[in-house]
Amino acid sequence: MKVDIRDILEEGLHLNIAENGSELQPTANKVDFLILSPVSANLTLLKSDEDVFVRGGMASVLKFSCARCLKEFEQKISSNIDVVYSIAPEHGLKEKELSMEETSINYLKGAEIDINAVLFEQLSLDIPMQPVCGPNCKGLCPKCGADLNQGNCGCHATDHTDTRFAKLKQLKLK
Ligand SMILES: [Zn+2]
Ligand SMILES: [Zn+2]
Repeated sequence: MKVDIRDILEEGLHLNIAENGSELQPTANKVDFLILSPVSANLTLLKSDEDVFVRGGMASVLKFSCARCLKEFEQKISSNIDVVYSIAPEHGLKEKELSMEETSINYLKGAEIDINAVLFEQLSLDIPMQPVCGPNCKGLCPKCGADLNQGNCGCHATDHTDTRFAKLKQLKLK
């Protein structure tokens, strides 16, 4: 959904959103998770002469693939949102006039804020880099590929310790 900043009155604009996860998913296709519905958010938008502040919280359930055993699992993610958009001057700044510092500011293009983009950006910051289905996940046997959470596969026991991390360590030592 999009919000026209002209609709933000002095007392602020409160949004209670239940987004369909699939509306956020197209942006998420680059990454490795699936957004399940609904994505809920409770936001307050405040406006000053120069800035728009978006604050609040969001929650959603994501489906990941475990980094160790590859099994799919769901995890609830709750995030705080605190974003500031600068309202670009009427006639726009020429790029040269922006200092390096200023280019890191979120400038609003036009009068609309894309709330879906705000939600997705926050979500992508909060997802784990190496999602695991549980802290005790034993992963897959590096020899036969069996899911070691289901029991021992019969390969030599010492082969099972920290499969991926052990491999990673070896790589780094070389
Ligand atoms: Zn796992
Ligand atoms: Zn095995």
